[in-house]
Amino acid sequence: MSGTNHDTGFSFYIPIVLITAFLLGCFSLSLMSIRENASSILPGGAVSDGDSVKSEGSVRKSPVYNDGGLKYRLVSASDLGIGNKSISQPDDPAPKRNVSSQAEQGLTDGVLRLPMEHYINFFPHRSGYTAYLTFDDGPSENTEAILDILDYYNVKATFFVIYHKDMEDKYKAIVNAGHTIALHSYTHDYSSVYASEASFFNEMDMISDYIYRQTGVRTMLMRFPGGSSNTISRKYSRGLMSVLKKSVKERGYVYQDWNVDSCDAEKPYTPPEKLFSNVSNSVGDKKTVIVLMHDSGNKTATTVQALPEIIEFFFAKGYSMEKLDMTVEEIHHNW
Ligand code: ZN
Repeated sequence: MSGTNHDTGFSFYIPIVLITAFLLGCFSLSLMSIRENASSILPGGAVSDGDSVKSEGSVRKSPVYNDGGLKYRLVSASDLGIGNKSISQPDDPAPKRNVSSQAEQGLTDGVLRLPMEHYINFFPHRSGYTAYLTFDDGPSENTEAILDILDYYNVKATFFVIYHKDMEDKYKAIVNAGHTIALHSYTHDYSSVYASEASFFNEMDMISDYIYRQTGVRTMLMRFPGGSSNTISRKYSRGLMSVLKKSVKERGYVYQDWNVDSCDAEKPYTPPEKLFSNVSNSVGDKKTVIVLMHDSGNKTATTVQALPEIIEFFFAKGYSMEKLDMTVEEIHHNW
């Protein structure tokens, strides 16, 4: 009895189930296309003000450059110092991009190519989420490429520089492009920087004077070589770091460590994908992110390759990207 009823009921419901499934399918398809349109209509995090970003159809173009056409820049591998065979994938210089990106940048035939047209989907800025890109140890032969990429995305960053011979123009270029230039010692030679308190401040004075002569900027913003948590200084002067951390404050310096490390200085030619994942995997839900990268020439050439994707990552996560100044809350290592 119950079996008969069940059979009758089942056959009765088949057409209803089919029609419902069909309607549901149509509905979700149209939802999907609405979403796609919505995400491409709106401007991306890289958008600057004014008419430098133009609306075109259902997408808005980014980057921010529109001086007689969108910028298209080729940086040769030899400019970047990566034409040699020490790079990790000598036979296939095009990095495998395992992260979806609408940019077409990347290494192709040994050339870093920034896309002529670039589309970034809408990602709402999350209030209070700020990322600070920092480049240590420069300037170097990578500086120009780094500046170009930052320029391209209209991102300002911070350069903790040391003294390098015959690079006068690059200190100026950093400042002229609107970035923060800051102190990182004169020699970066730990045996000199951390020989004593006097030696440390002598290094700071020397780089401060040098930056001032080259750029007209006098800054008290600094980063300790190796970070405030470095243990290398113990080798030269035990207990010095605790003395220095106190005395830099007393003298009016502001020092910044980092809370995200690209690890680009750990070994030369680390593949850009690895640098990207080092950054993206350690951002988490931090509201303030200070990223450590290096402007160290040939051995950190892959940092330049990873940079576009790192910037896009932060846009995608809703971060605004800023340069450090004396007022930004300090992030210090406490280990
Ligand atoms: Zn350094």
